[in-house]
Amino acid sequence: GMPPFSPAIVIGTGYGAAVTALRLGEAGIPTLMLEMGQLWNTPGADGNIFCSMLRPDERSMWFKRRTEAPLASFLWLDLANRDIRPHAGVLDRVHHGDMSVFLGRGVGGGSLVNGAMAVTPRRDYFAEVLPEVDADEMYGTYFPRANAELGVNEVDRDWFESCRSYAYARLSRKHAEKAGFTTAFVPSVYDFGHLEREEAQEVPRSALASEVIYGNNHGKLSLDKTYLAAALGTGNVTIQTLQEVRDITRQQDGSYTLSVRELNPDGGVLAVRQISTRHLFLGAGSVGSTELLLRARETGRLPDLDEQVGQGWGTNGNVMLGRANHMWDTTGTLQSGMPALGIDNWDDPVHPVFAEIAPMPAGLETWASLYLAITKNPERGHFTYDATTDSARLHWAESQGQPSIDAAKALFDRINRANSTIYRTDLFGDTRAFENRFTYHPLGGAVLGKATDLYGRVNGYRNLYVTDGALIPGSTGVNPFVTITALAERNIERVLAEDFA
Ligand code: FAD
Repeated sequence: GMPPFSPAIVIGTGYGAAVTALRLGEAGIPTLMLEMGQLWNTPGADGNIFCSMLRPDERSMWFKRRTEAPLASFLWLDLANRDIRPHAGVLDRVHHGDMSVFLGRGVGGGSLVNGAMAVTPRRDYFAEVLPEVDADEMYGTYFPRANAELGVNEVDRDWFESCRSYAYARLSRKHAEKAGFTTAFVPSVYDFGHLEREEAQEVPRSALASEVIYGNNHGKLSLDKTYLAAALGTGNVTIQTLQEVRDITRQQDGSYTLSVRELNPDGGVLAVRQISTRHLFLGAGSVGSTELLLRARETGRLPDLDEQVGQGWGTNGNVMLGRANHMWDTTGTLQSGMPALGIDNWDDPVHPVFAEIAPMPAGLETWASLYLAITKNPERGHFTYDATTDSARLHWAESQGQPSIDAAKALFDRINRANSTIYRTDLFGDTRAFENRFTYHPLGGAVLGKATDLYGRVNGYRNLYVTDGALIPGSTGVNPFVTITALAERNIERVLAEDFA
């Protein structure tokens, strides 16, 4: 018989997907969201929805036998990671040769696991990255709209200067300033008021209880509390979980039929079903949406997709490093898991860097300062389709990360020299000082104006759209979710006005 039909389907529930579903729902269009991860609203036996980073369990990672935290070691000991039962946990680490990509899985996508840093990119750099997008409109309308809907807030400056939670950030600021660099406060979707009450022990601790990458039990405005709650509130949006979209085919009447796996949260596929739609929005993230399109093109299901699908992928120049502090320079044992400060050296003509001052919330004094540097790395990777595994394969060589290391090294060599300090070489599993074999910020694969038109309409097919980080050509100079959100706001406004008449 005929598969069930929904007028609009959105794949995924991350930033691009959530924006799109809200605006479709507000316009009165019945919309179904299909999410491969779980809905995170039910406490486990310990009373918490999410587990902490210090005691990870099966809720932590997406079908792994052992956790794969970004800091592999401390004094070369594998302290951070634990054996776990494979389960549909909230954080995935997808391995592609020399590069692995951290991804959120669940209702809210990356918003469940990220550091909540909500940074609007510099206008001059945004205009450089996406020159065909009207920057006046973005900075006048869509960035403000995204910031308001996401609930972006800033830390109270007086509290910041005197609290325990950001002693580690004040120390890194002191070291940066000694070398002549300036720092900038970083807005957040973590409620800084809640954080103040956490430090005062008036509310349960989350950012102060080493909760970040495996989810926050309190304090964070993840998408399930903002855009997705508003989308459901329209009465026109439905979310179905543990639904992994695999294949997209186009029917003669122009509708799309999806083949969807219903996943068992403890492993395996319960069923495969079909569902059809008129308007199909891909919000499965840079890696997920690119893979869906690439598979559709290479298996002949959507043969007219652009050659640009799979191209233009980047890491946002991510590179992580630690510095060893002197005995008298303590970071403190209480560290907010949510960063609030960054070293802003983006104006450097040779090596622009925006380095967030990251916590190392181990619950003990580590004498280490940690950083996630965002650099301007011109290298790009691309995806090919591997028929034997029916999956997309990322091509990115470790050497392509070298420009990120060079930029970060230029900055932190100067900070080390000014403070007579050295790099930590015990953090990343071997003796390297710079870790560039993973990214938190995958961007590109179906780039705006290349694989799609200037509003995310996929070239070659009507009523097929990309809404997420796949649209951004590999770099945005800051943490990316505000850019993804604002661009999705811009695109869906145009699509609703023109394609639903
Ligand atoms: P995503 O948020 O990745 O959402 C995609 C969703 O689609 C996921 O829920 C996924 O499960 C689902 N999906 C994928 N494939 C399928 C399929 N085939 N079928 C059904 N569902 C599917 N950014 C910032 O701006 N600030 C930060 O502080 C920050 N910190 C980060 C920390 C970590 C640990 C990580 C991993 C990321 C961080 N990021 C941060 C990055 C940010 O979270 C991502 O850029 C953002 O989530 C990407 O949004 P998106 O809409 O492209 O897709």
